[in-house]
Amino acid sequence: MEQRSGCLCCGKEVLYLDQPESLPCMYCKGVFLTQARCVDSHFICDACHALPAFDLIERFTVASTSTSPLEMAVALMRSSSVKMHGPEHHFLVPAVLLSAAYNVRGEPAEKGKRIALARQRAEHVLGGFCGFYGSCGAAVGTGIFMSVMTGATPLSREEWRLSNLMTSQSLRTIAEAGGPRCCKRNSFLAIREALRFTKDRFGLDLGALSDPVKCEFFSLNKECRKVECPFYPQ
Ligand SMILES: [Zn+2]
Ligand SMILES: [Zn+2]
Repeated sequence: MEQRSGCLCCGKEVLYLDQPESLPCMYCKGVFLTQARCVDSHFICDACHALPAFDLIERFTVASTSTSPLEMAVALMRSSSVKMHGPEHHFLVPAVLLSAAYNVRGEPAEKGKRIALARQRAEHVLGGFCGFYGSCGAAVGTGIFMSVMTGATPLSREEWRLSNLMTSQSLRTIAEAGGPRCCKRNSFLAIREALRFTKDRFGLDLGALSDPVKCEFFSLNKECRKVECPFYPQ
């Protein structure tokens, strides 16, 4: 059983207040009266707290104004709805990428229908796809991202090329890092490949590859390769 304590956003202590305060929920951005918040004033509304992972990922990425897919990914991974490993990462990856891409492009109104489409497709990428089908779902998630962003279909030419190229680049990097599966490591690797790809092909800046990513979830992963993982905090 996974154990997490403290604020789901920052891990700091949660305070229970004498008087309610009006605060925005970190996931849906709705403003609510609350008597529980962390020392840094992070707060999650009861409705978001109770959402299953796919619903939380959709609600958060549609509402978010962030331009950093890695920051959004970590914020979602801190929720107890998102398990250490699981097929929700196959949707998490394209959702944070689409959200950041349309926020950077100044077209946030485009997000709702595109993230819903990515969800429909990601729901078909089953758990264990990495080991059973030889195609890590986080890598497939970057292909879904590119397909939804470019409007690719099986009949497209350039959009088809970009979508398959995106998956292949993420998949190669994930494969070369080796098993066993870690949905955090592979999501970080896939998102970083997508940062590089969108910068090179579209000039879209979704964050720098030099931005450090430190995993805070390794203690939940009994197969963690520790110092052999590029994201293990030294
Ligand atoms: Zn906090
Ligand atoms: Zn909320």
